[in-house]
Amino acid sequence: MKPAPFKYHSPRSVAEALELATSLENAKFLAGGQSLMPMMNFRFVQPDHVIDLNLIDGISAIERRGDRLFIGAMARQRDIERSSVVQETCPIIPEAYHLVSHTQIRNRGTFGGSLCHHDPASEQPCFTAALDGIVIAQSKRGQREIPMSAFSKGYMTTAIAADELMVGASLAIWPKGHGYAFIEYSRRHGDYAIVGVAVLVTTDVNRRINKISIALCGVAPGPVRLHAAEQALMGQSPDATQFERAADIARGIEAMEDAHVTADYRQHLAGVLTTRALVAAAARIKN
Ligand SMILES: Cc1cc2nc3c(=O)[nH]c(=O)nc-3n(C[C@H](O)[C@H](O)[C@H](O)COP(=O)(O)OP(=O)(O)OC[C@H]3O[C@@H](n4cnc5c(N)ncnc54)[C@H](O)[C@@H]3O)c2cc1C
Repeated sequence: MKPAPFKYHSPRSVAEALELATSLENAKFLAGGQSLMPMMNFRFVQPDHVIDLNLIDGISAIERRGDRLFIGAMARQRDIERSSVVQETCPIIPEAYHLVSHTQIRNRGTFGGSLCHHDPASEQPCFTAALDGIVIAQSKRGQREIPMSAFSKGYMTTAIAADELMVGASLAIWPKGHGYAFIEYSRRHGDYAIVGVAVLVTTDVNRRINKISIALCGVAPGPVRLHAAEQALMGQSPDATQFERAADIARGIEAMEDAHVTADYRQHLAGVLTTRALVAAAARIKN
């Protein structure tokens, strides 16, 4: 299939891109094209205008900003995965990227494209939610910050308006020596997760959990933070009995069903993978 006819635009600045997004009807931003182009070729999406973001400077930074990691929307997934600042501050991110698709796709695919495309099974919104991500969106009205808890608006739908551009997101940097794990089940290596789980955890001097984050992908339209399980584990020792309590909560998630698997199976996977991710993360804690 070939896409329906469209007009191509190549702005050189964010301001120019926003001017186009505001003035043109039925326009779409193009990042790495890894999802947009197939969707246009299948004619699931038929924009009249495509606004290419690839020649815009200043929206692909990957850098530490105080106690947060900032990732620009046009940062390539492969660059994020290989970035020394990411490996040092948020090691769960490279771990998750090893499960995302294949090198060729990560070479072109972008962080912003993934968050805005918002596939329910994507690892990227999931680790962003686990790291208390805040998406930064810009329009002609100015900039606004959208916490991940308010970013997902339903199946492949986000809080980003048609005239807004995601310029990046900031993610929490956890203390040095924190435990982390990203674990998933997919049919083949590189496929989207059927269910994936991100865990970050720290313990105090008495080896009691004093900070924990658990997020799942693949179960619901957007990433799910397991706040009830996080609360249940606070102040507890990181052992099998406590992790089983968290797994029970994960199994209780209202899960989606689709052509691939049933909701029951997703709930089962949520429980099993939550336990595995907790065990793996706890084993990595270095106090
Ligand atoms: C075969 C295959 C396997 C894959 N497997 C996985 C996987 O296992 N896990 C996973 O997480 N991902 C997977 N992906 C997705 C891939 O890694 C990309 O994240 C995804 O395709 C988005 O690509 P992109 O950055 O090129 O964005 P594009 O395709 O260019 O854009 C995607 C959407 O986001 C919008 N958009 C892009 N940038 C912005 C912005 N800055 N502001 C507002 N809107 C914007 C576009 O208008 C479009 O609607 C896979 C993709 C393919 C083709």
